[in-house]
Amino acid sequence: MTLATAPRYDPDEIEERRGHAVVVGANMSGLIASRVLIDRFQTVTLIDKDPLVDDASARPGTPQANHIHVMKRAGQVVLEDLFPGNGDDLTDAGALTVDLARGVKIYTQGDFFAHGPSPIQKYSASRPLFEQTTRRRVAKLDRVTI
Ligand SMILES: Cc1cc2nc3c(=O)[nH]c(=O)nc-3n(C[C@H](O)[C@H](O)[C@H](O)COP(=O)(O)OP(=O)(O)OC[C@H]3O[C@@H](n4cnc5c(N)ncnc54)[C@H](O)[C@@H]3O)c2cc1C
Repeated sequence: MTLATAPRYDPDEIEERRGHAVVVGANMSGLIASRVLIDRFQTVTLIDKDPLVDDASARPGTPQANHIHVMKRAGQVVLEDLFPGNGDDLTDAGALTVDLARGVKIYTQGDFFAHGPSPIQKYSASRPLFEQTTRRRVAKLDRVTI
């Protein structure tokens, strides 16, 4: 199975919407879970121990966030399905598109990876920027409370 053949998210498969879901952790996985759950539950509450301000700086709950991050292809596809235009949001906010096959030198175990023949385009940004972009989309969902 490849991304081209993998079944995509289809909200129409969900027949009934009721109840209240609570998601603990407003990190990337919590934000994405909230977006999916709102198709199945009447309301969703997303909580985090950190105060969530609308900026793209690291916070105590995600200390790893200061490292540069890339978003892999499957993540891009899922986010684009759930939040159409997510890629444009990212580039508008300052994320870079990098070619991981040829535009980056990856050093591990004493040597560099060889460059690949075809481009592997990925978004590169700080993790707080990825999170902020997704959080802004989730905040616009009517029945989700962050
Ligand atoms: C050096 C480095 C590079 C990385 N590079 C990449 C990369 O390029 N691409 C990539 O996709 N990933 C990368 N990762 C992984 C990524 O940063 C995260 O580690 C990964 O997303 C883990 O997510 P998580 O859902 O487990 O937890 P986290 O994202 O750490 O989130 C946990 C959340 O739960 C909240 N929380 C914790 N306790 C409570 C509580 N009691 N009540 C309420 N909320 C609570 C926190 O505040 C936080 O929001 C990298 C990690 C490192 C360290």
